[in-house]
Amino acid sequence: MSENKHFIEQIIDEDVSNGFPVSKIKFRFPPEPNGFLHIGHVKAICINFNLANQFNAPIILRFDDTNPEKEEQIFIDAIKEDISWLGFSWTEERFTSDYFEQLYLWAEFLIANNKAYVDSQNSSEIAVQKGTPTSPGSNSPFRDRTIEENLKLFKEMKQGVHSEGTHVLRAKISMNANNMLLRDPVLYRVLKKEHPRTKSSWVVYPMYDWAHGESDYIEQISHSLCTLEFKPHRELYNWFLKQIADPKKTKPKQREFARLNLSHTITSKRKLMLLVEGGHVSGWDDPRMPTISGLRRRGYPPKALVAFVEAAGVAKRENIIEASLLEYCAREELNKTTQRVMVVSDPIKLVITNYPENTTELLNAENNPEDPSFGSREMPFGKEVFIEKEDFKEEAGNKFFRLTIGKEVRLKGAYIISANKVVYNDNQTIKEVQCTYDPKSKSGSGSEESQRKVKGTLHWVSKKDAFEVEIREYDRLFVEPSPGSAKTNEELIGMLNKDSMRILKGYAEPFLKTAVSGNKYQFQRKGYFVTDKESTVNKLIFNKTVGLRDNWSKKQNN
Ligand code: ATP
Ligand code: MG
Repeated sequence: MSENKHFIEQIIDEDVSNGFPVSKIKFRFPPEPNGFLHIGHVKAICINFNLANQFNAPIILRFDDTNPEKEEQIFIDAIKEDISWLGFSWTEERFTSDYFEQLYLWAEFLIANNKAYVDSQNSSEIAVQKGTPTSPGSNSPFRDRTIEENLKLFKEMKQGVHSEGTHVLRAKISMNANNMLLRDPVLYRVLKKEHPRTKSSWVVYPMYDWAHGESDYIEQISHSLCTLEFKPHRELYNWFLKQIADPKKTKPKQREFARLNLSHTITSKRKLMLLVEGGHVSGWDDPRMPTISGLRRRGYPPKALVAFVEAAGVAKRENIIEASLLEYCAREELNKTTQRVMVVSDPIKLVITNYPENTTELLNAENNPEDPSFGSREMPFGKEVFIEKEDFKEEAGNKFFRLTIGKEVRLKGAYIISANKVVYNDNQTIKEVQCTYDPKSKSGSGSEESQRKVKGTLHWVSKKDAFEVEIREYDRLFVEPSPGSAKTNEELIGMLNKDSMRILKGYAEPFLKTAVSGNKYQFQRKGYFVTDKESTVNKLIFNKTVGLRDNWSKKQNN
């Protein structure tokens, strides 16, 4: 029965069959609003939101906002926009800062039970006493303060009496614990920073580990799902819950899955921030960024991102997924859903010598051969057309199926032509290629000539009717397949691909004049493109999402 279910689904099924009430199943997605969400987060989002749908259970979007030094409203807004764009909706929106009062009261409760103490050492002194995984730590000289003294000091910390770095509140667990996280972890620090939501009401802030599990408990999350690096934290979260939880209430069950890593890029908000702040990209939504907003701007449809994380699977072992899988998922989706158009980027002029002067013929072009409901459009054809320079060779071998002197090709959706003569400029560059067309070979006319088989079909635009657009092509952001392994920021920056963006001119068929930001197209024979938000009335800009085929792996092999 559970063969096709991933291990987390199986765990929940098992809990239900062991008597856990379905009505108490509840999930959360808990981002820290310190950056934009990236492709890795899509995996965590899909796992949690899909489970909520599957079990018809509530799901909370909880902003883990315990660090006012790094968190901002723009990140909160972007996170909400991105999750909605992926097609998911949450039952409730909460903030860890909603629980600051409760967390503070529980901290006092720990002190009162001799389970927490105020340490007046600085962070480096505390670090030295931590010990190592193979040697025990040592007790702080402040570990045996009286409950009264601890309560008094902690209250003073809250009231702002003490300055930053003078005191912290620590749990009193054990300095010999095998799990280093249990060696009297810090619960609170003094931080005189304005918080985006609580403003200046607090000058002590809970540490992530203290706040996270308790927030899950407050919200009565039944299954708290996170990535593997939190596995060692599980023991600490359970220790905290043992101190404060009501036995009648649900204790969140934490389970861990592997992070999703994508080749040639990084999935860490901190490192992505480095690229943004260092000006190495134009912003969080730069089309080369692995952020959801970057991928959206690049033209990736939400369904392609969801299909990608599903294809990558939910497992317990870390691995790096090839970027080509993401591109494959985009192609699959875009092939079905995009309008076809023709754009020539590096043109050469053809003059059709036997075509009448000053004539424009409107040809009917199919919008999407995969889906007749896309209908058709009119494409002007005339005596002068542009094709790609690389589609013409004056002389070529038998393997060249494009235009060459004396051979026939079809202009897509138009006529069969053959090239007769090249006319040169003074500087020996090609001025034009003189061709003739077969007037009876019009595509779709049903004539015998229109059915004639020719080896090549080329895209083209009518020179007189085409208009200029800007095309932005992208390559991998990093030259290294796993830039996440960089040891330092400098090393990471050194791994950036210096040629990850190329700006080209294009000549587009007039239909594209209707394009608005976010519209996606297949430029025939070139790939999938999306209209960029920087487009103006005078200049349309297109981002290349992906090519029609996986040319990149080919390039690597050469
Ligand atoms: P980052 O290192 O990018 O800041 P994070 O883990 O600190 O990531 P959070 O905002 O805390 O980011 O993440 C919210 C949720 O998304 C967490 O449950 C986290 O486990 C999950 N998550 C983060 N990165 C990935 C990833 N690469 N793959 C899968 N899940 C992820
Ligand atoms: Mg984090």
